[in-house]
Amino acid sequence: MYMPDFAYHAPQNLDEACTLLAELGSKAIVLAGGTDVLHKMKVGKLAPENLVSLKHLDDLRTIRHEPGRGIVIGALTSHNAIYTSKLLQERFLSLPMAAHTMASNQICNMGTVGGNIVNGVPSADLPPILIALNASIRLVSVKGERTMPLEDFFHGAAETVIAPGELLADITIPDQPTTGSTYMKFACAAPALGRCGGCRLGQGCRRHPGGRTGRPGLCSSYRHAGQGSGRLPAGQKNKRRPVG
Ligand SMILES: Cc1cc2nc3c(=O)[nH]c(=O)nc-3n(C[C@H](O)[C@H](O)[C@H](O)COP(=O)(O)OP(=O)(O)OC[C@H]3O[C@@H](n4cnc5c(N)ncnc54)[C@H](O)[C@@H]3O)c2cc1C
Repeated sequence: MYMPDFAYHAPQNLDEACTLLAELGSKAIVLAGGTDVLHKMKVGKLAPENLVSLKHLDDLRTIRHEPGRGIVIGALTSHNAIYTSKLLQERFLSLPMAAHTMASNQICNMGTVGGNIVNGVPSADLPPILIALNASIRLVSVKGERTMPLEDFFHGAAETVIAPGELLADITIPDQPTTGSTYMKFACAAPALGRCGGCRLGQGCRRHPGGRTGRPGLCSSYRHAGQGSGRLPAGQKNKRRPVG
């Protein structure tokens, strides 16, 4: 369990981080919470020459509501910060619910939503509910930035469209008249890495615009995303499905 030698970098801001990643190219790996990267280094699966830590990028550690945009979650937000966020508890309880099902307290203090997404692991907990809520992501590099629906980020198990030198900056859940969202995790065993992953289902639901005068129990739109049962998290929309 000895760590291989590496050079450690801790840029002070996003621009500095992007410049460093462009200079170091394939010789560098991004370090966020390190729950995955450091473990892989210890067991000899990764031996980067350079680690670029994002620990000083505090702007990417916030959860805020931006009028006209939605809830913006910085990529460095920890699982425990998602779990305890009053804003998310009020607006999209499914995300704190999903964070609450994850790992141990120590891992949830260090592990970040950005790492959970960029890993591209089919069993990750947060991507399905974010996809069900129509989340988009912002990727930045020295070349500029691009945004895309989270659903389009994944190409296969541990395969994503992130380009060398790119950083995941934040995730946006757009404002939407969602009346409810939930997260269900069907695990075959107590959640532990490397065990049977089970299946995760994230769901978002909108009430019929008729409200109280509309047909009771009619859901005007409903979107769910599954994970852990295939190679990709996948979203599906169902319109006007009766519920309850
Ligand atoms: C014991 C244990 C239990 C776990 N249980 C669960 C669980 O129940 N559910 C679950 O979903 N996961 C689980 N995990 C996996 C892991 O904790 C999460 O995926 C975590 O969110 C990874 O985040 P991190 O910040 O630690 O990532 P890191 O290890 O720092 O990085 C992971 C990968 O993402 C890249 N990366 C990270 N942030 C960025 C960024 N902003 N931009 C570009 N690239 C980036 C890194 O270069 C690396 O390739 C567990 C891990 C352990 C060790």
